[in-house]
Amino acid sequence: MISIKGLSKHFGDLQVLKDINLEVEKGKVIVVIGPSGSGKTTMLRCLNILETPTTGHITIENKQLDFSKKVTKKAVTDFRKLTGMVFQSYNLFPHKTAIENVMEGPITVKKQSKEKARSIAADLLNKVGLGDKIDYYPFQLSGGQQQRVGIARALAMDPEVMLFDEPTSALDPELVGEVLKVIKQLANEGMTMIIVTHEMKFAREVADEVIFMDGGYIVEKGNPQAIFSAPKEARTQQFLQLIQ
Ligand code: ADP
Repeated sequence: MISIKGLSKHFGDLQVLKDINLEVEKGKVIVVIGPSGSGKTTMLRCLNILETPTTGHITIENKQLDFSKKVTKKAVTDFRKLTGMVFQSYNLFPHKTAIENVMEGPITVKKQSKEKARSIAADLLNKVGLGDKIDYYPFQLSGGQQQRVGIARALAMDPEVMLFDEPTSALDPELVGEVLKVIKQLANEGMTMIIVTHEMKFAREVADEVIFMDGGYIVEKGNPQAIFSAPKEARTQQFLQLIQ
């Protein structure tokens, strides 16, 4: 369903992603781990074209972008609709309520009617356990609740793939579980997801495949059992020893 071929990304002279190749089947959960600065976030941002890759192809469903050629704004806009992104820092509109945050994209980008957008948003907020908080503003919500609004907002665009960029790393420890529970529920429902996280226990539980990145490369990939219990590469072994 997702195919990444020969993806690279430079920021000026710094090459942050080096020949990334990855295939993801529909309904699979991919967890990306690796040291800070290894390129995990940049890879995710390239999938959502928040960063423009320097070279490579990305295909999602039947849409492809080839970055060796000039890509049009329209192609990028169409492509971006395929993915829903959840950020570390939630990025909610502070002056909009929870339900207004979730309705915003469907109304402005998908041209949904207000009534339809409101009804879908209410269902999604219910699904993430915030049915009683739909009229609250972000400042009236805990970090975990704000992040669950962020997940509902991404789901409201009806994406093919959900991308999570360290969704719990800004949260107090006691709030991490409620967000991971929602992500797990989506996994059980068959949502295709790519998740960058430092939560190794969660990675083990939810991942179909774990990818270890270092220095802009995918160093190793495999099922959670293989990566966490018997990593083949020295760099993966070192990383896991340091964090476990
Ligand atoms: P990770 O998510 O694994 O911590 P990142 O993808 O955030 O890694 O960053 C990889 C490298 O790219 C780091 O060296 C970082 O400083 C650099 N980098 C990320 N974004 C930018 C940017 N917008 N401009 C310049 N360098 C960047």
